[in-house]
Parts: sequence; C-alpha cells; structure tokens
Amino acid sequence: MYGYQAERLSPGVHALNQGAQFHLQPRGNVGVIEQSDGIVLVDSGGSPAGAEQVIAFIRSISDKPVTAIVLTHWHGDHALGVSRLLQEWPRARVISTAPTREMLASPDADRFMPGDNAQANAGFMADIQDGANFLQQAAQDQNLHEADRAGFAQAAREYEQFGREMAVARRVAPTEIFDGSVTLPDRVHPIEVRFFGRANTSGDAIVWLPRQRIVFTGDVVVAPVPYGFNSYPSEWIGVLNQIKALNYAVLAPGHGQTMRDSVYLDHLIAMLSDVRTQVAPLAATDLTAEAASAQVNLDVARDELAGEDRWLRRWFRNYWKDPIVSSALREARGQPIVQGAE
Ligand SMILES: [Zn+2]
Repeated sequence: MYGYQAERLSPGVHALNQGAQFHLQPRGNVGVIEQSDGIVLVDSGGSPAGAEQVIAFIRSISDKPVTAIVLTHWHGDHALGVSRLLQEWPRARVISTAPTREMLASPDADRFMPGDNAQANAGFMADIQDGANFLQQAAQDQNLHEADRAGFAQAAREYEQFGREMAVARRVAPTEIFDGSVTLPDRVHPIEVRFFGRANTSGDAIVWLPRQRIVFTGDVVVAPVPYGFNSYPSEWIGVLNQIKALNYAVLAPGHGQTMRDSVYLDHLIAMLSDVRTQVAPLAATDLTAEAASAQVNLDVARDELAGEDRWLRRWFRNYWKDPIVSSALREARGQPIVQGAE
C-alpha cells in the first residue's frame, strides 16, 4: 500500500515510483542510475524503511555500490533514507544545493523531521500522534461524505506507518554542495546536476542525463496535485521553462508517474502564471492569504487535475491552491518566502 514500483526508463536507468495515487503523507520517488563504477541515486526513499526498498531493488539489478546520492530538496520524504543508505555504503557522496544542506543542518527542520535533538524529536513524534488521531476521527465523522471518510481512513493507516518509520529516522546533512551545476562523469551515463533557480523550495536540484535525455525533477514537478507551500511562483515558471528547453524524452517527477510529453509541465506553467495574474491586484490590498485565496478562482485547473474525485479536489485546495496563493501573495508584496514557515 505504501511501497514503490520499479520502472525501467532506459537500460541502466530506473525510477522507483509510488504511482498515480495521491498520498497525504507520500514517499518521494527515487531515481537509480547505473554508472560504470557504481550507482547514483536521486533522493533516498523518505525513511529507513523506504531506503530498505531502494537497497533491495539495487541488489536485484547490480552488485555495484552506491557512490552518490543527490538530494533534490530538503523535505523528509526525499531525504530521510540517507542514514540507512550510508550504513550500507558509508563512502557514498551526499550532494545537494547549499540551501538544501543549510535547511537539513538547521534546527528549523526539527518541526518536520527527526534530527539530533532528542527533545525536538519527542515533540515531532507527539505531532505525528496528534495527526494520526485527527485522521482517525475524520475517518469516523458521519458529517463527511463517504469518499472523504474512506480517504481519511487510508491516510490514517499510512500515517501510522509513517510514525513507526519516523521513530527510527534521523536526518543527515549532505556532505557536498554545488553551485550552479556539478557533473558526475561516466562513459554511458554522464549525469549533470543543475540548479535552475528557486521553485518548489529555495534549493531544488534537477538531475539531467544528456545522453538518455532523462530528467529527474524532484518536487518541481509533482502529480496528480502539486505542492505549493513556501514556494517561489515566478522563479518556478522559469525553472519549468528551462526543464522544457532540455527537450527531454522522459521526465521523472518527485511524485506521480513518469511522463513522456510536456502536457503536465505546460499545465503547471499555465497554472502558476494564472495564479500570479489573479494575485497581482490582491497584493495591493491588506487581504490575508486565506481571504485572497477565496478571491482566486482555479476551478478549471482543479477540474483538469482532480476531475470528479472528491478526495483529490479537497487536497487540490489544501496542498496547492491555498499555499500557492499565499506564496504568490508574499512574492507580489515583496515579502520573504521562508522554508518551513507554513
Ligand atoms: Zn516530496
């Protein structure tokens, strides 16, 4: 229910995906790239248990060691498999942008994932318990539609598993940062790790295989519903256009299924532009983010992404509309956008 499915993107290049289903507490997709002297990973499996799945998959295709793990961004569902992977391959490089490393090394991340501070970890685990209780209550709430109760029931089961996984998880800061780009050379699978600008977070890394024309985007591209928290709408559009300009054959997103065209990318660009256009006149008012979101109409985009699926329509609003309007409002007002602020 909570695992990865392996997909071969080309000989020696694989994606471990959670698939098309929306998860309230997801695991980030993982890229597996075989070079001549070892395996390079894009993200880490989201927890020690997720990393176990990654390790089992690697063992099934190769006896080479993991030589490098590229973290696309700081979120725990991408970063928290690193500790387990380093037990298996202690010499692996862990590479990210400077902002990603800074966040993972900062106590600011304590609210979102376990680290070295026992007291903060206890608080984090208590928050997970509160979240699980909320989801269980919602699953029983007779005022909710049956489809929503079913969604909350599944989310509660997944969140309880997440809690068990977090009890043994510890974040590890990357060992290596890059500025602009870094190349991991290879005869067959050279890898370019690039920073195209701030997008979903302040430090999104993009992994590009120029020979195979495969791009791993991290959460710069997420389906079926993107995440809009503390992001950078105008720069994000620029990053998406740079990804499109790569003229990729395959796009492996941070969540969701592999893409082989730019239909969804174009949707994202259009949605972000639409949000900025609608938010611009509201920025001059003193509306709160919540009030501004009520003035913004994203019904067409919601229908395209979520269709008639009640559960997805709910999360389109909570994970995308409200947070992206809040981000766009701060951007338009010239206010700082801070990672982990909401
Ligand atoms: Zn993610």
